[in-house]
Amino acid sequence: MRVVVLGAGFGGLELSTRLSEVLGDELEVTLVDRAEGFVFGFSKLDVMFGRTTPDAVLHRYDGLVAPRVRFVRAEITAIDPAARRVETTAGALTGDVLVVALGADVDPAGTPGLLEGGWEFYSEQGAFAARDVLADFPGGRVVVGVCGTPFKCPPAPSETALLVHDLLARTGRRAQSEIHLAMPLPVPVPPSPPGSAALLEAFAERGIEFHPSKLVTGLDPVRSVALLSDVDDGTPGEMAYDLFLGVPKHHVPAVVAESGLAEDGWIPVDSLTLETRFPGVYAVGDVTSVGTPKAGVFAEGQAAIVADRIIAAARGADGPRYGGAGVCYFELGGDQVAGVEVTFLQGQAPIGTYNPPSAEIAARKGDFGTSRIRRWFGREWSAY
Ligand SMILES: Cc1cc2nc3c(=O)[nH]c(=O)nc-3n(C[C@H](O)[C@H](O)[C@H](O)COP(=O)(O)OP(=O)(O)OC[C@H]3O[C@@H](n4cnc5c(N)ncnc54)[C@H](O)[C@@H]3O)c2cc1C
Repeated sequence: MRVVVLGAGFGGLELSTRLSEVLGDELEVTLVDRAEGFVFGFSKLDVMFGRTTPDAVLHRYDGLVAPRVRFVRAEITAIDPAARRVETTAGALTGDVLVVALGADVDPAGTPGLLEGGWEFYSEQGAFAARDVLADFPGGRVVVGVCGTPFKCPPAPSETALLVHDLLARTGRRAQSEIHLAMPLPVPVPPSPPGSAALLEAFAERGIEFHPSKLVTGLDPVRSVALLSDVDDGTPGEMAYDLFLGVPKHHVPAVVAESGLAEDGWIPVDSLTLETRFPGVYAVGDVTSVGTPKAGVFAEGQAAIVADRIIAAARGADGPRYGGAGVCYFELGGDQVAGVEVTFLQGQAPIGTYNPPSAEIAARKGDFGTSRIRRWFGREWSAY
């Protein structure tokens, strides 16, 4: 069986590693990605706030360990889901099974004024550039704002506001600064009321102003003003800034949009099997509209189910079904890390458990990264 995996992010790495481990010679796995290597989402914040360097967080694909996986570094330029065939800059590939794990692209140019008047911190390039901007910032009015939904890792803008506070406090610039956080959500992490309460308390303790249900629709770079829209009633608003740090709009990669796989912006899948409407074509992670947040831990969980279903099918059996469970760790400032274990079942409100900050939760977050790099790349790594 030939399996072609498109995208070597959280989903693609877990999927190909698992297939290689279990099926061995029974199948041929080709993993395609255009990037030089993998970078965790949270590592972008670590670089941005000066805790580590860009080179230290890049896990180069030439270090992949899965023995039976062929990695092809190439741009995917076309996908024909009916034929399970893709065109890449390294040639065409056809699979008996195709798995689309191409993630969500960010679109800073999609928000007027964002590139000219602010800094986006969701791409590697953007977050790494924001590090220098933050280091040189003399103090003033900082606005962290979200320009579209859905967006990856819903706690990340809240973490960013708290880490801006820590950085400015550490370097003696907090007294002359204000920090505002504008989000199109009613609370920082809606699936977890206790997690949201902990973040709101952390904002209040630090004098960070939270502006719920506000979408940033554009920046006016001439006046240094963020343009807002209330998500409930569309009321327009404005917020002045000296430094704007933005979460850009997200969309599927262009190659997915052109393939006919996406509907209403994302790839619809069966929420239990991750199958698309094309036989033999699965999709996992941020590229889908499966109903879980756009986070690596969910992409990985979906990938594991697809791998197990492919393995079961190869043995003539039915495979497991996706249960929508994941764990999100988030920073509360002052080196404190909390966690939310949450399950998203279709048609039901998410069920979650909040783990307040502790040394154990911080260690679990560290292990989250370390264990993945050990598993996928076979080397020891620690986030800091
Ligand atoms: C600031 C920040 C913090 C985050 N923190 C966390 C966290 O703490 N925990 C967590 O679970 N998640 C976190 N995330 C979210 C996480 O990074 C993503 O949700 C996760 O990477 C999604 O996995 P994926 O496999 O769907 O896609 P991705 O990991 O994005 O992988 C997609 C891959 O497809 C490749 N690709 C795309 N288009 C093409 C093409 N045309 N040709 C070839 N290759 C292509 C890309 O190069 C990429 O490697 C964070 C994200 C950000 C931005």
